[in-house]
Amino acid sequence: MPVTPGAAPSPARVSIDANVSIDANVSIDADVPESQPAAGPAPRGGLAASTHEPGHGLRLMAVHAHPDDESSKGAATMARYVSEGVDVLVITCTGGEAGSILNPALDKPEILGRIPEVRREEMERARAILGVGQTWLGFLDSGLPEGDPLPPLPEGSFGTLDPEVAAGPLVRLIREFRPQVITTYDENGGYPHPDHIMAHRVAVEAFAAAGDPARYPDAGEPWEPSKLYYDRAFSPDRFRALHSALEEAGLQSPYAERLAAWLEADAEGHTPPPPTHATTTQVECGDFFEARDDALRSHRTQVDPEGFFFAVSSAMQRKVWPWEDYSLIESRIPVDLPETDLFAGLR
Ligand SMILES: [Zn+2]
Repeated sequence: MPVTPGAAPSPARVSIDANVSIDANVSIDADVPESQPAAGPAPRGGLAASTHEPGHGLRLMAVHAHPDDESSKGAATMARYVSEGVDVLVITCTGGEAGSILNPALDKPEILGRIPEVRREEMERARAILGVGQTWLGFLDSGLPEGDPLPPLPEGSFGTLDPEVAAGPLVRLIREFRPQVITTYDENGGYPHPDHIMAHRVAVEAFAAAGDPARYPDAGEPWEPSKLYYDRAFSPDRFRALHSALEEAGLQSPYAERLAAWLEADAEGHTPPPPTHATTTQVECGDFFEARDDALRSHRTQVDPEGFFFAVSSAMQRKVWPWEDYSLIESRIPVDLPETDLFAGLR
C-alpha cells in the first residue's frame, strides 16, 4: 500500500534503535569522535547516542545504468546521506556513449564526436556536486532501440549480456565497498531501456550472490548487504501531487500529458505502467533538491535545462513532496514498515 504523505513519520535519524549500538564495526572505529554529552534530556532508547555518530560506518551503493541516472533517481537521498557521513558509491554500468543529445544548445558535431569523454566530464561534475564516490563498470551502452520492428541491440552491448556474467564485476565491488544498503531499478528498469533492465538484473544477482562464498569465488571476501531497494523516482503519486499543486497555484503543469495518458489507459481497461512495488520508504531530502538539480544539469548533453525535470521549483517540491520514494524489496534484518530511512534497523 502506498505510504501517504501524512503518514510519514519524522526522519529516523532522530530515533535511536536499541539494536543499533551492537555494531562492532562502528564502536571500534578509531575515527569516531566522542560526541559531546547532550545538554538536554537523555536520548530516547538509551544506548548508542554517545558512541554512534550518525552515518558513521554506513555505506550505500546505488547501481545505475548510465551517467545521469544517478542524478535523476535518488540524487537528493544520496546527498542527504553524504551530509550525514554515510559513504555513498554510485556504480555506473555503461559509459552512456549511445545517449542522444537532448539539449538543443549542445547538439553539435564537435560534441557528438567526443561523446564518451563529454559524458565522463559531466559525470565527474555531478559526482562532485553530490559528494559521492563513483565507479564505472565499463559496459557498452545499448542505446534505446527505436522502430517497428525494433532493431537488435548492438553486439556485445550491456543489454545483450548474461546477467550472471555481467554481475561479476559488481559482486567484486560489493565485496570491496561492503555496503549495507543497495538501491537499483525495478524489473522494468523504471522505464524499459534495455540497459536499465540489465542494471536491475545485475544488481539483484549481485545482491543475492555477494555474501555467498560458493558464488563468484574469485571476486573477493564475501559480504552480505542487508537491504535491497528499488527507487520509485517516477512514482505516480508524486506526479499527481506535483500536478495538483501546480494547478492550484495557477501554473502550467508539465505532467498533464503523462497523467492524461495514464487515465486514458485506465479507461481502455489497461493498467497504466504499473507501480509494481508499493512505496515502503520515504526519505526526506528536500534540503538537497537544489544539489540534485545542479547535478542533473551537469549532464548538460542529456538534459534540457528548460525541460520536464526542472518544471517545478524546489520550494514547491519541498512543500508538496519533500521525499524520494523507495520500495524495500529484500531485507536480511528485521524491519518495521513504512520507514523514513534506508538504514532503518542498521543504525
Ligand atoms: Zn539511463
